Formats: sequence, C-alpha cells, structure tokens
Amino acid sequence: MAQSSAENFLASDKKVIAPLYGKPDVNFVSGEGSYLTDASGKKYLDFVDGIAVNTLGHRHPAVIAAIEEQLKHFIHLSNLYPNYPQIRLAEQLLELTKFDKAFFCNSGTEANEGAIKLARKYFNRTGHPERLQIVTFEMSFHGRTFGALAATGQPSLREGFGPMPGEFVHVPWNDVAALKKVVNDKTCAIMLESLAAEGGVMTLSPEIAKTVNTLRKETGCFVIVDEVQAGLGRLGTFLGLSRTGLDADFVTLAKGIGGGLPLGVVLMRQKVADILKPGDHGTTFGGNPVACAAGLAVVKIVSGPAFLKAVQERSAEFLEGFKKLEAKYKFITGIRGDGLLLGLAIDKKIPVGSLAAAARAEGLLVHTAGGNVLRFLPPLTISAAEVREGLEKLDKALSTVK
Ligand SMILES: *Cc1c(COP(=O)(O)O)cnc(C)c1O
Repeated sequence: MAQSSAENFLASDKKVIAPLYGKPDVNFVSGEGSYLTDASGKKYLDFVDGIAVNTLGHRHPAVIAAIEEQLKHFIHLSNLYPNYPQIRLAEQLLELTKFDKAFFCNSGTEANEGAIKLARKYFNRTGHPERLQIVTFEMSFHGRTFGALAATGQPSLREGFGPMPGEFVHVPWNDVAALKKVVNDKTCAIMLESLAAEGGVMTLSPEIAKTVNTLRKETGCFVIVDEVQAGLGRLGTFLGLSRTGLDADFVTLAKGIGGGLPLGVVLMRQKVADILKPGDHGTTFGGNPVACAAGLAVVKIVSGPAFLKAVQERSAEFLEGFKKLEAKYKFITGIRGDGLLLGLAIDKKIPVGSLAAAARAEGLLVHTAGGNVLRFLPPLTISAAEVREGLEKLDKALSTVK
C-alpha cells in the first residue's frame, strides 16, 4: 500500500484506531535488515523488532522468497485439508525439538489457550477431571484472551474484565517454596516462561527449573513452557528450554515464528495427541500456508549452529557494553536477560518511557518491560558493527538524562 510521506500518521491513527497503545509521533515508511526508515529519511536501528517478531530483521530475502513461492499456490486453505507448508514446518520443528505433534494457531495467546485446553482435556479424558489447577508465576505474561489472561500473573492486566476462568494460581517468580506449596495431585499444569520478558526480563533460576521438573515427576502434572518470546533462537539456543533445563510436555511458540506473519504453534507429546479427537479444538486461520511457508524459512535459518553461535557472540558484546554503561550511569541498577532478550533495570525515579524516547531521538528503537526495565530485542541477524552502533546511540541517549 502506498504511504504518503506528507501525512502525519499519529494524527490519522488517533482518529480511527482504538486508543489502547501510547504511540510516538513517527512515520515509518520502510524497513530493511536491522533498520527502519521514516518519512523524512531518518534511519532507526530497530531493537524492538516488532516485539521479537522480526527475528531475521526486516524483509529478509529468504522470508520474502518463501512467501512469494507460496503465493503462486494459494493464500489460505483452512484446517479442513492437509496443508503442505504446515506439514513441512511441523516436521522441521518436531525434529529440532524432539516433540511429537504440532497444533498451529495465529498468535501467542492462542498457543497458550491451546496448551491449557489440551492439558485439561487430557486429564478429563483419562479419568482425572479434578485435575484443573493451572499454576503460573507472578509478573508472567501469557496473553490477552481470557484463559491466557487468567494465567498471566499481572493483576493490572486483568482489572475490570470481570470473572476470569477458574483454577488459576500465581506464585512469586523463582519462589521454590511457594511453588512446592501449591502444586499437588489436583494440578493440571505448571505454566511458565523460559525467561519472563514482559514482566521485567527476568531469568529463571536453576533451582526453580529443578523444582518444576521434580514436581512434574512427583505429581504427574504437565509443564507448559511459554516460549512465545524466548524461543526460536532468542536465547542463543533453538528453544529456551535448552538454556533453562526445564522438562516440558508442551511448548508454545509464536512472535518470531512466522517471519512477521501471524503464526503460533503448540508442540506436544504423543500421549496428549493420543487422546485427542477431531473437533476438540480448532481454528480457521491457524497454520495459514503463507505464514507457515515463511516460518519454514525462519526455522531453517535460526536453527543453524553457526547462527546460534553468532547470537551468543552478539549477546556477549551487548553484555560487555552494558557493563560499561552500568559503570558510567548510576541510574542503571541492573543488567538482565539472556541471549538477545536483554534488559537494563533503571532507577524508578527515571521512567523508562522517557529513555526509550531519548533513544528514538538518537535513531535507536528500544522497548520497555515491567519494573522500569529497558528491553532490547534486536534481530538475531544483527552484526557486531550494529551492536556497537546501538551501544553508542544508547550511550548518547542515556547521557541526556539530567
Ligand atoms: C507476546 C507474548 C504472548 C502473547 O502473544 P500474542 O501473539 O500477543 O497473543 C504470550 N506469551 C509471551 C511470553 C509473550 O511474550
């Protein structure tokens, strides 16, 4: 669609788009690799990545080629028929993750809804309808639809939306004792992120991962790992699971998996697939052929050992740069995260939104997270030179803080 460079997008947006986001006054007209360009020709290094979606940067040639090839066949098919790109993508994902079956949907929240529903269905069908409890963590983020929202451990996001689905319990992040106290033989699943991104870029402690694995064995509950943001190479391993050591019955992926197109997936074990029947769950658009074709291109690239090694190297470069900034700026109170899902905790006196705005003025896009954290989600394809450029721009932006 042609974009007029004379139009003010923010003004037009305010007239017609529901005011659910606080947007800056910026007119982006194109993206290429790690950069976005606005109508004035100004380039921005993009460390937001459409919220960890543009894993290969903007307009990656492999993604474009895969989409163009699929457009020659059909754009949509539904799940009423076998869908060739979906099958190829599932084969690839299952081979890489050692899971057994895939259910495709359109988004992160739907993937989590799917996992919750299938976990409950399993116990219902196998003679344990009492196993309903879903245990999740405070500060977690699992999505905006009712089930995933009930799972989300942030009361402010649930406020005013009326009764949530029942049997969801939240325990403090990384709290071993609290988790042990609530998980029992009525627990259906423990659901958690490999790295709590939205909540404040908080890593999972080895102790809590061990406890989750032990409780899974002892009580027979499921473990659902939400890798919507932390999966697909973001932590320097194909799944975040390999970093945290969690044993999982379900993994949910979305955000980056469709190469920028809406796509989500639930990976599950055979024992769950064995109890499912046609009609138990479904979606019209889920696993759309164009999105799956793009997804296959993404997965082939991000699963490469050399690619993942580069993610780890760029991560180390970021962390080294962050240490220097932490020494220079007293208002940086901590360095968070793993791989290329990183954060800088900022003194509460300085709202992170103002720092993101200062960075934008320098031509650097960064995101924020809960707990006054600046969040960095660069494309996984970022070069060492772009990391340096980003750190320099960040330094300039931070130096404007009075
Ligand atoms: C973004 C996110 C979701 C929700 O994904 P949507 O595609 O926005 O529905 C769920 N879990 C995690 C960890 C996320 O980061």
